[in-house]
Amino acid sequence: MIKLTGKGASLGMAEGAVCFYRKEKEVLDEQTNHVASEEEKKLADALEKVRSVLEGEREIAEKEIGKEEADVFMIHRMMLDDADFLSAMQERVAEGYSAAYAADSAAKALAEVLIATGDAYMKERASDLLEVGERLVYALIGKEKHFVATDATEVILCAEDLAPGETLHLDKSKISGFVLSRGSMQSHTAILARSMGIPALVGVGEVLFSLAEGERVLLDADRGELISCPSEGVCRQFRQKKEESEKEKSLWEKARGKELITKDGHRIEVYGNIGAAEEVSGVVANDGDGVGLFRSEFLYLGRLTAPSEEEQFAAYRTALEKGKGKRVVIRTLDIGADKKVPYFGLMEEENPALGLRGIRLCLQRPLLFRTQLRALLRASVFGKLAILLPMITSVDEVRRVKAMLFEESEALKEKGVPIAESFELGIMIETPAAALLSDALAKEVDFFSVGTNDLTQYTLALDRENDSLESFFNPHHEAVLRLIAMASESAHRYGNWIGICGELASDHALTARFLDMQIDELSVAPSMILPLKAHILSLCEEKTLTGCLPK
Ligand code: PEP
Ligand code: MG
Repeated sequence: MIKLTGKGASLGMAEGAVCFYRKEKEVLDEQTNHVASEEEKKLADALEKVRSVLEGEREIAEKEIGKEEADVFMIHRMMLDDADFLSAMQERVAEGYSAAYAADSAAKALAEVLIATGDAYMKERASDLLEVGERLVYALIGKEKHFVATDATEVILCAEDLAPGETLHLDKSKISGFVLSRGSMQSHTAILARSMGIPALVGVGEVLFSLAEGERVLLDADRGELISCPSEGVCRQFRQKKEESEKEKSLWEKARGKELITKDGHRIEVYGNIGAAEEVSGVVANDGDGVGLFRSEFLYLGRLTAPSEEEQFAAYRTALEKGKGKRVVIRTLDIGADKKVPYFGLMEEENPALGLRGIRLCLQRPLLFRTQLRALLRASVFGKLAILLPMITSVDEVRRVKAMLFEESEALKEKGVPIAESFELGIMIETPAAALLSDALAKEVDFFSVGTNDLTQYTLALDRENDSLESFFNPHHEAVLRLIAMASESAHRYGNWIGICGELASDHALTARFLDMQIDELSVAPSMILPLKAHILSLCEEKTLTGCLPK
């Protein structure tokens, strides 16, 4: 038996025969002796062709999988018309390169910029861009993309990576699972696999290609494993576990749409965390009661200039509209520490986690921050907006932001721009200072959201990025839990609500304790919403929660 490991991008278990999907590499003419006007025309025709193919695929996806999932094809269309991408291609064509080479090299160059951010989300956008570039190249060299054709049923499709377009055209009746040597959890292919309910494992590495075409394998995406050459005993155990896990998932489904109220009457909601506006759909599809954390900094990463007010407005408006009246908590820019933006021209810091990050940077760069605040205010009429401020350590910081929000609202109103009559303002509780001052801070805002990742880092004086400290990084530490309880008590004393949006929110071992603390909302990755709701439901049925705080 050989066990390959990866990350379960779409949970579930499946067995079947290995079928490899290999892409051919195109060799493109790199000479600069092409007639620019001819290549320009070819490029324009290819752009038009790919636009219409993407539109066709969007329609198919909408019919076969769902409206929200079909958005990936819209995103690819938008990437096709991205100003940076278009001008990078046009520059190359003007230099005498063929249109195909221009499309290929421009996509690769811009993808490199995204990858260089080191951010997982941006790496995914780089794959999207490469997919768009590849489509253009195919349109320019007159080649059709060919999709897997196999006679086998129960196929475990193995590939280096799969683009959403390729995933869409697969014969789903034959595919029991996907395994990718690259790819990641946030990739659009992973998102599509989740929506199609097909188990998928990503990031397995080159070792995947040591498997034999046609061999039978067991895919356990729940455990992140692919088993080759299993014994009879292992197959038996696998089938038994598959049956049990299917039962468990049907229990999760039972939690869908249920109100979560403890016997003593405390109501808790489960929200989803996202990094881009279009991900709101995943939260809604997974029965999320709202969006608990939209990390807006992703809009700023992996590009050459800051997003304009219009661009941000469009993203926030989309998120709010997709939220369909559910609360959408958008966190203002949290750049600094591990999230770097080269165009901000920030100084190198000895201790970036203790440096110019989050609200500190925003207060130091008011023009940048006010642009974001205006975009948020303008978007506020399109849904239920809650603005969340990161890295707060004092009342003064909150008051300074409130003053800016007031001034920007007044200026917009004067210009006749509509803004919502009311929206909520909250702060992250992610520094011990914020938790210790939570009674004073509660008077200034409407809600708290606990960032347990940073709260653990700053409470235990432990760098969350330092792998060698992992064994010391203990978010269950009593000190962290007491700070959360303290913040919860302060929030409720002043009639506010409190949520948790750090990783600890999805830790089932602490759910009962959070209910005891009367936490009002837990915000987790969209795929964790239903399992957490099912867990809370069982707690609500089983146990009268004490409602008391830890001693
Ligand atoms: C946190 O610190 O827990 C949090 C949610 O913020 P981030 O992980 O983006 O720093
Ligand atoms: Mg944080």
